[in-house]
Amino acid sequence: MFKAFLIKYGEIGIKGKNRHLFEDALVHQIKYALKPVEGDFLISKEQGRIYIEALAGYDYDEVIESLRCVFGIVGICPMVLAEDEGFEKLAAEVIEYLDKRYPDKKKTFKVNSRRARKNYPMRSMEINAALGEKILEAFPEMKVDVHNPQIVVNIEIRAKINIYSEVIPGPGGMPVGTNGKGMLLLSGGIDSPVAGYMVAKRGVKIDAVYFHAPPYTSERAKQKVVDLAKIVAKYTGPIYLKVVNFTEIQMYIYEMCPHEELTIIMRRYMMRIAEHFAQETGSLGVITGESIGQVASQTMQSLAATNEVCTMPVYRPLIGFDKQEIIEVSERIGTYETSILPFEDCCTIFVAKHPVTKPSLKVIRRSETHLKEKIDEMVHTAIETAETIVVQA
Ligand code: ATP
Ligand code: MG
Repeated sequence: MFKAFLIKYGEIGIKGKNRHLFEDALVHQIKYALKPVEGDFLISKEQGRIYIEALAGYDYDEVIESLRCVFGIVGICPMVLAEDEGFEKLAAEVIEYLDKRYPDKKKTFKVNSRRARKNYPMRSMEINAALGEKILEAFPEMKVDVHNPQIVVNIEIRAKINIYSEVIPGPGGMPVGTNGKGMLLLSGGIDSPVAGYMVAKRGVKIDAVYFHAPPYTSERAKQKVVDLAKIVAKYTGPIYLKVVNFTEIQMYIYEMCPHEELTIIMRRYMMRIAEHFAQETGSLGVITGESIGQVASQTMQSLAATNEVCTMPVYRPLIGFDKQEIIEVSERIGTYETSILPFEDCCTIFVAKHPVTKPSLKVIRRSETHLKEKIDEMVHTAIETAETIVVQA
């Protein structure tokens, strides 16, 4: 029944001279989202609106599911497209639409028409009144309520006539690509995919880096991270994922530094390497899934210690979230089921029984001096041998 969709987008950040950039990015992301969907779609910008027209048969649910992943979309309105063949024909189309869409007619409604094409012979107010009457005639159970109706029957008179009454919520945010790029530290856990999602929601394109430690972490653990990136890529577009072999560095830290400081020192090296890639590939910040106090390595003191090695901003969108809140987002965006698969993580392999919770920077820096003989070479090798995987949804 629906041949087209009207896409509503937020007003924030799109006023003024950047508006067209925002719209172009949104159109680009819509095209990307619809690429794997069967069908042929024409996407157009018209008078501050975006329309998607289906030129061939398509799967409605699939289209809606894909569009619900596009940041910047606030609402998706499935529309009936009617030819302009006179008012009587229009009224018949509207009645047929309402009949199919609302099997239960005990509803209040109002007609809201807009005459974008001024040569249409009736004015908006006339259309509202005349259509309202026709609807009441056809469905006596329906009632008019102009203040708080359950159904708003929108009629837009353009080259064709758009009929719609439904607004399916989109994810909001800003189209990916309108706000630079960030380097996500992506592990196989629950938090980091959510962190990537949240920053991308503000229009940031995402690259990612994963540290793995073969043979202590398996190929399946790595595959899990790729699978998570794939899910996040539904929202962000393709993700360039760097996979860094971290085993040597980890073993060396384990050998040379106090075990209770291992996690912090490891994190500092992850941050350094992530920042290196970020700089190399044009990211403007590093993103992690940390949240204050979640574990020993995420106390304020520990975060200060990991933060210190970065000169770039470190974005921690989950900083004030409880675990339960993070889980709720991960369930909503579809990463949860993959995140909880039980594969080992390079951070859990060598964890100390009693990690420091209040590391002193001075102490950590001194411990790191024990690494000076080989660490630069090892970091260099880790960077040089990193594998790049282009992850597509
Ligand atoms: P999650 O792993 O889902 O992020 P977590 O509670 O397991 O949550 P930690 O293991 O403490 O978190 O790690 C904190 C952050 O450090 C992660 O959110 C992630 O951004 C980064 N991180 C940890 N381990 C890795 C890894 N192996 N590769 C890349 N980034 C990692
Ligand atoms: Mg983790």
